[in-house]
Amino acid sequence: MKSLNLLRRRLGWKLFLSYLLVLIIGVVVLDVTAELQTPRVLSRNITTLQAMEVDNPALVADLEAHLQQAVHDQLLIATLAGIIAAIAASLFTTRRILLPIQAMTHASQRISAGDYHERIDAPSQDELGEWATSFNQMAEALERTERRRLELIGDVAHELRTPLSGIKSSLEGLVDGVLPYEPDTFLGLQREVSRMQRLVHDLADLSRVEAGQVRLELRPVDFGELINAAAARLHSQFEDKDVTLCLDVPQGLPRVAVDTNRMTQVLLNLLGNSLHYTPSGGQVGVRAWAERGELAVAVQDSGIGIAPEHMPHIFERFYRVDKSRSRAGGGSGIGLTIAQHLVEAHGGHLWAASPGPGQGSTFTFTLPRPE
Ligand code: ADP
Repeated sequence: MKSLNLLRRRLGWKLFLSYLLVLIIGVVVLDVTAELQTPRVLSRNITTLQAMEVDNPALVADLEAHLQQAVHDQLLIATLAGIIAAIAASLFTTRRILLPIQAMTHASQRISAGDYHERIDAPSQDELGEWATSFNQMAEALERTERRRLELIGDVAHELRTPLSGIKSSLEGLVDGVLPYEPDTFLGLQREVSRMQRLVHDLADLSRVEAGQVRLELRPVDFGELINAAAARLHSQFEDKDVTLCLDVPQGLPRVAVDTNRMTQVLLNLLGNSLHYTPSGGQVGVRAWAERGELAVAVQDSGIGIAPEHMPHIFERFYRVDKSRSRAGGGSGIGLTIAQHLVEAHGGHLWAASPGPGQGSTFTFTLPRPE
């Protein structure tokens, strides 16, 4: 029973026994056919001997015995050679198959124990090699996810620390009597709490879009109407800051299938940023046009612009060019990350361009048009 269990769990033994089985069947078949063939061959020879007038029964019996002995000897030699070949072949195959499998087993055990750097060497270019390559790809994906998770936790902790320490010191000031019990003190506290609330809300959105779990309710819309509606929502804020908002949205733009709430969120983020990073007296323009099977929308401002070294990072979460300025305005640094994920979830692209600091920026996105 124990040895049967061992056999079930050992691939090497299974391979050896399968070779042995093939060998035994071959030998048995050979033996049976030899047993059947020998008398026939012999009787033909006896007829020849009789034709030569040699009539000696003892000689015939001797001949038969020798012939059968020779056949058995050859079968024995062939069987021994076959067993040796089966052992060698199963050892070779076992080494080729088992070593990579064992390496993979150890690697996956180490990965499940939290060591995400673990990789294995591709043993060959056959299916085992492909298996090792896809195993390594899986390990890489797990490592990336784990790294992102750790970074996110670190970033969130960092982002919450600032408003929390602001709230803490205000409360301590109130308790110690250093800060007066005045509406201004409580307004400051309220601002910090609102910032945390916004951050928590954005984080929930971010985790959903990063995990690709945003369910889009697509329906064909006139995108011009969405732009007009978003601009109308921010109209008073533009007026308050004395920033001119110009729309260049032609009538009869081709309809695109989008989730109106999500695309409004993208437009509000881009317009809100343009307003935030454009000083009073500046301009923001929104232009929409159709080109090569796509609808394109550009939000251009005459604001503070973006230096080339910051350009590759502005879509990264929590990245802010001017940390204090952005934070003071309540920016969480994840608006663009969310906007980019949302545009990509619609099958489009979002990118930024700027001639440099003080020279404004343009954020453009495209959306595929239905066939
Ligand atoms: P935030 O909430 O800080 O605005 P975003 O993800 O929306 O976060 O933007 C990331 C950073 O990109 C901003 O902190 C800012 O430095 C830069 N940025 C975004 N939009 C503009 C713009 N229109 N002009 C200049 N800089 C911008």
